[in-house]
Amino acid sequence: MKKDDCIFCKIANGEIPSSTVYEDDEFRVILDLGPASKGHALILPKDHFRDVCELDPKVAAKILPLGAKIGTAMKKSLGCAGFNLVQNNGEAAGQTVFHFHVHVIPRYENGPSIVTWTPGKETPEELAKTADRIKSAL
Ligand code: AMP
Ligand code: ZN
Repeated sequence: MKKDDCIFCKIANGEIPSSTVYEDDEFRVILDLGPASKGHALILPKDHFRDVCELDPKVAAKILPLGAKIGTAMKKSLGCAGFNLVQNNGEAAGQTVFHFHVHVIPRYENGPSIVTWTPGKETPEELAKTADRIKSAL
């Protein structure tokens, strides 16, 4: 299903032009307009899902293999040394376009840090309590 006012629905289905690096019946992979590094791409399903919680499991099963395929092509063609697969869910997590997508971000030797955090500290008791809270909601 497409959503009328969704820009990624329009891009994924070819109604708005994009720098496409891959397309099949279910996905289009485009270059990000504001790349974190050279070649930064976005995997877009052609159907509309707001985020990973809405994603059809059959579509979901194809995303990691596609990410691996695109990342491998980036290593061969662009000479990156690795790549990050990044996927944001919700405004608080940095999602700005509410059509599910996965970032494929090439990483070059000696390039800047892109996906980072400062590790915190928790006691084993705190970790156990947090784990219990999550488990109780599954
Ligand atoms: P997120 O913050 O995970 O929702 O990522 C949205 C990404 O989409 C950002 O990296 C934007 O630079 C990118 N973006 C937004 N509009 C377009 C567009 N029209 N074409 C290509 N990339 C876009
Ligand atoms: Zn959409």
